[in-house]
Amino acid sequence: MALQLFNTLSRSVQEFVPLDAAGKKVGLYCCGPTVYDFAHIGNWRTFVFADLVRRHLEFKGYAVTHVMNITDVEDKIIKRVREQQTTLREFTGQYEAAFLADMQALGCRLPHHTPRATEHVAEIVALIEKLVARGVAYQAADGSVYFSIEKYRGCGCTYGRLLKLNFDEMRAGERVKSDEYEKESIADFALWKARVPEDGAVFWPSPWGEGRPGWHIECSAMSMKVLGESFDLHLGGEDLKFPHHEDEIAQSEGATGRPFVKYWLHGAHLLVEGKKMSKSLGNFFTLRDLLGKGFTGREVRCLLLSAHYRETFNFTLDGLTGARTSLARIDECVNKLRELAGGTAAAGAATELETRFAAALDEDLNISGAWAAVFDWVRETNKALAEQTLTPAAAAVALAGWERVDAVLGVGPAPAAEAPAEIVALLEARQAARKAKDFKRSDALRDELKARGWVIEDTPKGPRLKKL
Ligand code: AMP
Ligand code: ZN
Repeated sequence: MALQLFNTLSRSVQEFVPLDAAGKKVGLYCCGPTVYDFAHIGNWRTFVFADLVRRHLEFKGYAVTHVMNITDVEDKIIKRVREQQTTLREFTGQYEAAFLADMQALGCRLPHHTPRATEHVAEIVALIEKLVARGVAYQAADGSVYFSIEKYRGCGCTYGRLLKLNFDEMRAGERVKSDEYEKESIADFALWKARVPEDGAVFWPSPWGEGRPGWHIECSAMSMKVLGESFDLHLGGEDLKFPHHEDEIAQSEGATGRPFVKYWLHGAHLLVEGKKMSKSLGNFFTLRDLLGKGFTGREVRCLLLSAHYRETFNFTLDGLTGARTSLARIDECVNKLRELAGGTAAAGAATELETRFAAALDEDLNISGAWAAVFDWVRETNKALAEQTLTPAAAAVALAGWERVDAVLGVGPAPAAEAPAEIVALLEARQAARKAKDFKRSDALRDELKARGWVIEDTPKGPRLKKL
């Protein structure tokens, strides 16, 4: 079945047809983090959504090139570098490393390319030069270079592709230099910002004098460098539609004269207990905050994947506890299947679980339908296990089907064999102590395993390690 996606560009659900003539390769760009702090769970909702899109495309056999930029120079970063009297690289490096570690803790596949803005200043300058040469960008008296919306529209181009904009309220010649600006102002925005004393040591040479790039042009330059002038998918949170993504389209199409992106996908925002996250309300969570409360990355991922990407999601700690319960049900079922299947090889076509699961995701990523397929399967499998009607071969087929589904969800239990060597060694020592009837020692070893996050489950086939 063909994949259907809601394209913000057409405001409708469309069949996904890649630009690649062979229908195999897909280019996907998702606006990455601004590395000035730890990412919060709202940000993570968007990145987990991008991971789901990528994994589903891969499940369907596409060869995806996933690009996520690292915004390591923009207004907020410069402000903090100045306040903390540090260097740009030192400051952003710590948050970039934390971001990539969190991404792994959440079970996201790392993008194939994670270009940093500071390493693409030459490409950014070249793109601005093109815009100046085409007459849609100009240097103003303050030394900065701006994109001219009037000139762009004068060439027959549309500004306001993702959102309908009200040009009657536009004041001609108005300019905005800051990276983030109000939705009410449709103003010429900065492509290159002339150096000012507050920038400290953050500047590069350019044909327009020393300065630094604007945020919007960074994404146009990096996405087109890796994926070409036209590519398939561009993702981000809904707040980026305007002005950031509108500006990306204007800059890219203004420079190349070609369509920039075929499908624009936007994820709705995350609220916490029904409210916008804010530090003052005490409802602001980073992933680290939740890990500190004893939740796992897998549980957070499961919760973030529980709602449709175009619906506002209300995050609650109770919801996280619910995700824990759901995962325990899946784990129990999958582990029992593993036991029964033993080393039996799986053969056969796609299982009913996979077919239902994929059909749901093909409908604009209908995740509720996908979860329903999973939990119906868990219930039926548990019934068959309890009634002992499954053969090891049937269990192996069911397991293989689950593993293909979990290659998209990324939430399943790790096989017990994946316990690190020192944990397995502790288990073996505990078995030896039990055999020698040294129960004091065997209990102490069990406690030691628990302290390291592992429990022993005694099964008819012997003890099994389970991650807490
Ligand atoms: P930033 O690091 O601020 O550039 O944001 C990174 C990504 O997170 C962008 O795609 C934003 O649209 C997205 N984002 C920011 N806040 C939220 C939120 N509360 N819920 C969902 N996504 C968000
Ligand atoms: Zn961007």
